Amino acid sequence: MRLFTASLATESNSFSPVPTNRASYEAAFYYPPGTHPDHPPRHTTAPLFVGRRRAKQEGFALVEGSCFWAEPSAPTRRADYEAMRDEILGQLEAALPVDGVLLGLHGAMIAHGYDDAEGDILERVRALVGPRCVIGVELDPHCHLTEKRVRLADVIVLYKEYPHTDFVERAEELVTLVLKTIRGEIRPVMSLYDCRMSDLFPTSREPGRSFVARMQSFEGRDRVLSVSLCHGYAQGDVPEHGTRVLVVTDDAKATGDALARRLGEEVRERRGTWAPTWLTLDEGIDQAYVEPRGPVVVADPSDNAGGGAASDNTNVIRRLLERGCRDACVGPVWDPIAVQFCMAEGVGATRRLRFGGKTAETSGQPIDAEVTILGLKRGGEQAFGASRVAYGDGAGIRIGGPGGVEVSLISHRTQALGLEIFSDVGIDLAGKRYIGVKSTNHFYAAYAPIATKVLYADGGGPSPPDIRKYPYRRIARPLWPHDDLPEGRLVV
Ligand SMILES: [Zn+2]
Repeated sequence: MRLFTASLATESNSFSPVPTNRASYEAAFYYPPGTHPDHPPRHTTAPLFVGRRRAKQEGFALVEGSCFWAEPSAPTRRADYEAMRDEILGQLEAALPVDGVLLGLHGAMIAHGYDDAEGDILERVRALVGPRCVIGVELDPHCHLTEKRVRLADVIVLYKEYPHTDFVERAEELVTLVLKTIRGEIRPVMSLYDCRMSDLFPTSREPGRSFVARMQSFEGRDRVLSVSLCHGYAQGDVPEHGTRVLVVTDDAKATGDALARRLGEEVRERRGTWAPTWLTLDEGIDQAYVEPRGPVVVADPSDNAGGGAASDNTNVIRRLLERGCRDACVGPVWDPIAVQFCMAEGVGATRRLRFGGKTAETSGQPIDAEVTILGLKRGGEQAFGASRVAYGDGAGIRIGGPGGVEVSLISHRTQALGLEIFSDVGIDLAGKRYIGVKSTNHFYAAYAPIATKVLYADGGGPSPPDIRKYPYRRIARPLWPHDDLPEGRLVV
């Protein structure tokens, strides 16, 4: 038995000011064949990571192709997308014949000229391997789960958790289903139900928490192999944008159709209740300082690099300073130049520094202040579940003496995932009243355990949590909440 695996992944924000080309992937990660590290696993390359171990254990051959990942930003430059895609297709062609293909594709990639980049990749992979080869795909739930992909792949499995703490477990399930299909033990058939809505589905709170268990309660019985909820990705302006339910059965299409419809209707009934309450920036500050003790963690989803924002908006920091807030910190702010200046001065130095507010109108104005450099870190990494995510060089600064507002500056754009973005650069979280993190929900796994309370407040960055504010041009309407809720429909 012989399988091929590769990964080409990013999350393309149609409204991001940050351009995306091949260098964006090479800056995040690019592993040519055979160079992918054995540890730690990366979320979009989990099929390779799991496939490598299972190949050794179960005695099949796994041919490794290239793996690409870019931090979310604007749609990818056309020629670069085509070159990366063709690099992988060339490796696959050289590896033929294969019994199976395992692909790690985030699922919300747009390239110029390609609304559905993953559908394009699958079409070309299928053309090379033929109809009998088993194609298995793992996707992030923040994807556009198009009809084309579901018709071209044999098995698709999405992460269920948001924060995405389960990408390795879901890859294990994917590899198991692909191997069973190759061995002729199952015959997977997929059903896809379109909820005709768009929403945010954190699983760190109800009703999302229980819905994960509900999906899993159907798996492994009545010929149901896998159930996934495609959350959709609000910042992707493509026709097949929105929330969908995917059910994979063992040759039981009618069962899959009925279950996909039933779960899809449950999602529709609870529309508007899945996401937490979004406070205004000032409400977030008010509510944080009302708590008798801290730290209160206040997430700003509007400037989340993980969703394609620049992560250099200064509104929250400016407001904390204007209101004279004490024992506060905010991070990460993407500003490579400010980090470089801090590196040149050294820990303990005090200087005038301009930082943030650089990349677009939605970044706000830069902040000019007398700052003390608290700590510096070269080549920093933060934990994200079992994975490690690089943030480049970091500098911790404080404005206004002990107890003032502290800021984590980073040189490599990424969201707040682990505590390291503060602790590595001399910012002590223990004594804080207000910890501001630029993230929508991935921060939650690391930060909720140290927080007395978690709040979500709109910092006025480029990705407003109220998705009705986006200037969409391409999404298929009607779609809730932009329109009255239309009928749901079975797509596949
Ligand atoms: Zn995601």
